[in-house]
Amino acid sequence: MIDKMILFSAFFSFIIILFIESDFVEAVQDNKLQNEGNLENTIEISCNCIAFRLDDIQDYWLDDIQIELIRIFYEREIPLTLGVLGKNFGNDEKLILEINNMVLQNSLFEIANHGWEHEDFTKLSADDQKKLLKKTNEKLQSFFGISPEIFIPPFNNFDDETIQSMKAVNMTYLSSSIVKGDKPPFPLKNSNFYRFPETATLGEYSFDLDRFVGVKKEKVIEDIEKSIDNYGFAVITMHPQEFSMIKDGKNVNELNIDQITELKELLDEIQEYNIKFVTLDKINQNSKENSIPQWIKNNAEWWAAGKIDDQTFIQSLQYLVKQGILIIPQN
Ligand SMILES: [Zn+2]
Repeated sequence: MIDKMILFSAFFSFIIILFIESDFVEAVQDNKLQNEGNLENTIEISCNCIAFRLDDIQDYWLDDIQIELIRIFYEREIPLTLGVLGKNFGNDEKLILEINNMVLQNSLFEIANHGWEHEDFTKLSADDQKKLLKKTNEKLQSFFGISPEIFIPPFNNFDDETIQSMKAVNMTYLSSSIVKGDKPPFPLKNSNFYRFPETATLGEYSFDLDRFVGVKKEKVIEDIEKSIDNYGFAVITMHPQEFSMIKDGKNVNELNIDQITELKELLDEIQEYNIKFVTLDKINQNSKENSIPQWIKNNAEWWAAGKIDDQTFIQSLQYLVKQGILIIPQN
C-alpha cells in the first residue's frame, strides 16, 4: 500500500515536472522569439533626411512671396519640391521669369502636381481623379519638360482611388499629411510606390483666425527630430500664406519679415546637423540600413549623461564588436 502511494506520488511529480518543463520550454521559446523580434528592430532603414515642400505655386497670387521662398532655397542650394497648380500656372510674367532663372534645369528643384484647380480629390470619381492628374501632368510637362512623379493632393485629402489613379498615370510619390490620416508604415525602399507625408510644418491652420499662422523654429526642429526617429525622414510643408502680411484679415502680397527670418534661421540651424536635405523623390534613394542600432546610440547618450554605468555601456560595445559592426584595429 505504501509502495503504491510512493509510486503514485512519484508519477504525479513526474507529470508536474513535465508540465512545468513544457511551460518552461515555451517560455524560453517565447523569449527567443521576442529577442529575435528585437534584433530585427535594431536593423533600421533610415534616410536621415529632410524634404521641404512649398505648396500652392500659382499665378498672380502672393507671387512676391513665392519668389522669395524659392530664392531662399536657391541661394542656400537646398533642395525644394514645388507643388504647382495645373490650370493657374504659366502666365504670371514676374513669377515665370524667376522660375526660369532659378528652377528650370536646376536639379535642386523638383515639380509636383498639386491638382488642376486645387480640387478635393476625395470628392471626385476614380475616373475624374485620373483625368485631372493627367491634365495637370501634361500642362506641367509642357512647361518644365518633365512629367511630375509626385502628387501633393490639395488639402492633403486622398483616398484609395487616388492611389490607383496615380499608379495608372505612372506617378510614384504621394505626399499628403499624417495629420490628415496618412498612416505609417511608410516603406523607404524596395517598392514601386511611396508615401512620404508631411510630418512637420512651418504654418498651422488656425480655425479661430481662419488663416495660416507661423510655427516657431524650435517646435519645427523638435518635430523634425521626432519624425526622423519614427519614420527615417521628415517632410516639412510651407505655404506662401504663412510668410505674407495680413491686412484687413486677408493675406497680402507683402513679406512677413519675422516669418522669413524664422525660416532662414531654421535652415541655417538644420545645416549644422548631420541631416541631409533632399527632394521628396530622393527619400527612397537616400535610405539605407543603419549600421549602428538606435538602442546603442541611446546607450551612448545615457552613458554620457551618467544615466547608465560603465559596465552596461561596455556590454553594448561588446555586442557591436561581436556583430562585426565595430572593428578594433589590431595595432
Ligand atoms: Zn494647397
